[in-house]
Amino acid sequence: MTTPKRTQNQNRNQNRNDPRQKQCTFCAPNGENKTLYIDYKDFAAMKPFTDYFGNIRARYYSGVCLRHQKMLKMAIEKARFMGMLAYRK
Ligand SMILES: [Zn+2]
Repeated sequence: MTTPKRTQNQNRNQNRNDPRQKQCTFCAPNGENKTLYIDYKDFAAMKPFTDYFGNIRARYYSGVCLRHQKMLKMAIEKARFMGMLAYRK
């Protein structure tokens, strides 16, 4: 009697199309042409991931994967040090 319940749950998980699930913008959909390096001079690439006050947006909001969030953090901190991004507005 327990097996039908389990299959129902599995189907529900497989067919789930959760709108809250976000995809990393630096990763291509099929895993091809992944961004390997985020340039600290590329202002346009980093700007959408900072908020009004200049803080780096959390992964929870931006949907960036851990690997690219770490790259982004390094790039933004470098850009701040070089004076191209604001530490604080
Ligand atoms: Zn990614």
